[in-house]
Amino acid sequence: MGVEVNRGVDWQGVEEKMVIFTDLDGTLLDYYTYSCDVVRPLINKLKKAGVEIVPCSSKTRAEIEFYRWQLGLDAPFIAENGGAIFIGRDYFKFVYEYQRQAGEYNVIELGMLYNNIRRKLDAARQENGLDFKGFGDMSEAEVATLTGLDMASAGRARQREYSETLDIIGSEVELKHTLDCLKAAGLDWSRGSRLFCVAVGSDKGVAVEVLANLYKQKWGSIKTIGVGDSPNDEPMLAVVDFPILVQKPPGYWENIKLPNLYKVNGIGPDGWVKAIEELTDTR
Ligand SMILES: [Mg+2]
Repeated sequence: MGVEVNRGVDWQGVEEKMVIFTDLDGTLLDYYTYSCDVVRPLINKLKKAGVEIVPCSSKTRAEIEFYRWQLGLDAPFIAENGGAIFIGRDYFKFVYEYQRQAGEYNVIELGMLYNNIRRKLDAARQENGLDFKGFGDMSEAEVATLTGLDMASAGRARQREYSETLDIIGSEVELKHTLDCLKAAGLDWSRGSRLFCVAVGSDKGVAVEVLANLYKQKWGSIKTIGVGDSPNDEPMLAVVDFPILVQKPPGYWENIKLPNLYKVNGIGPDGWVKAIEELTDTR
């Protein structure tokens, strides 16, 4: 591993294990097609070099599993904007704290459970006469139509465990009223390109720190890289050693200000490949 990167960091002779925390939509995956073809060759090289690649996304467990399978990744992952960390049961060989076991994972839960979020949403809707629809109120076909996902992907997006996705109906004024009411009910929301994500207690940054500490326990010392494209990636980028911001199409950076942020000249996966090749000397 080598290559001096222009942020005062000399990677020459760095022997520490590297962990890459990466957003998916518009970062590792193409903004329009959700394809991971661009990053596949580099990911194969990184896996051989022992670099860990940890997806950290607003997507659900089922959605992330799909891409992990496509790319052959086995590292833990962070789902639903930091709602939970999913760790293969045999991945860390030491004892650590987690809240439950699900499928093949130990799950560290940071966010409120989906059913409880839904209950809070229903109460806020009734109390204030709000007009919104969550994925839990929609069929797979409705989600597919609304998001442009195919039916199988829409099904995976509906398998929510720690957050709800909302389509809020009404004018800008009604929208603001709805969001104010949700806030008053103790629900956190963030705005996507069209839909809103609602959760309680989830935090991408906290999730990255918790997982990074487990990696430190495993290897003693690690270098962490974070890659994202949007404001909702900022908490993740703020807690890694090397934060990288890729461009959004047609070729601009979101307004994120961090002291050591590397704004790479490349859109989504192209920027991902460019920056990671520089940092890991895998060109
Ligand atoms: Mg993104």
